[in-house]
Amino acid sequence: FTLRVEPLPTATAEGAVAMLMLHDITTLVRMEQMRADFVANASHELRTPLSSLLGFIETLRGPAHDDAEARDRFLIIMQEQAQRMNRLIEDLLSLSRIELMEHTPPTGAVRLERVVSAVVGALEPQARAQGVTVETALPDDLPAVIGEREELAQVIQNLLANAIKYGVPAGASAGRVEITAGTLRRGPVAMPQATRADCVFVAVRDHGDGIPKEHLPRLTERFYRVDSARSRQLGGTGLGLAIVKHILNRHRAAMVVDSQVGGGTTFTVYLPRAASGQQLDDDPPGPS
Ligand code: ADP
Repeated sequence: FTLRVEPLPTATAEGAVAMLMLHDITTLVRMEQMRADFVANASHELRTPLSSLLGFIETLRGPAHDDAEARDRFLIIMQEQAQRMNRLIEDLLSLSRIELMEHTPPTGAVRLERVVSAVVGALEPQARAQGVTVETALPDDLPAVIGEREELAQVIQNLLANAIKYGVPAGASAGRVEITAGTLRRGPVAMPQATRADCVFVAVRDHGDGIPKEHLPRLTERFYRVDSARSRQLGGTGLGLAIVKHILNRHRAAMVVDSQVGGGTTFTVYLPRAASGQQLDDDPPGPS
């Protein structure tokens, strides 16, 4: 954590030390509180499907033991609950892996257009099932970015999966998602000063119901959802954007969200551009 010393014009040496300790303790208490909230939330998220599973097992061993029709129905629900726990554990593990790496920025050069096309291919069945068309328009001469291929695939995957999930407006049966990219002489202020000049952006835009303004600053918090019931019903864990945020922190990158209620949402990611002669990370790309 960072310590800030804020000397007052009138402070004595002892006064400055006292203030420094106050900052230290406040940060520690806040971090401890966040950790406790996270463990409580994660336990709650796991306990809900687990209780449901235990309930169905109880019923199958008792009253529904000889009811073949009920057994088949319950088994499908039990499978869904187990899959939900599985997704949650996968996301929790991703989050802790990325957090461990956060202070070691990647050094490789990655071609975003390859990452994007692999992710779009992988999510194609999901998009088709929701009636969503995904259009990609990336320039041929898009420069490589500094990054880690699998992590960048995870960023695009989480943003595209959300655009597919939330991109069909209420009452509609089809949606459209656009992925665009380009370069900028200067990135947004959210990017660290060291990587802000000359960056590459990739934007994922949907035409869904949009997100009310007051929720925007909290979207990347763990387990924060605008509509919990809808997120759960669509298979969401509430961790997708938190994972994106940590990967982008590691990349010294940034994300900007622009959303209009009734007009759709655009998530734009800004990444540092690789030097033109830098060796490319040429392994076949793909989401993890
Ligand atoms: P989840 O697993 O719930 O989708 P995320 O961390 O990926 O979790 O996203 C957090 C919340 O942000 C979602 O629950 C949803 O309410 C909102 N959200 C994310 N992407 C979009 C989008 N493209 N359109 C509308 N809402 C979105």
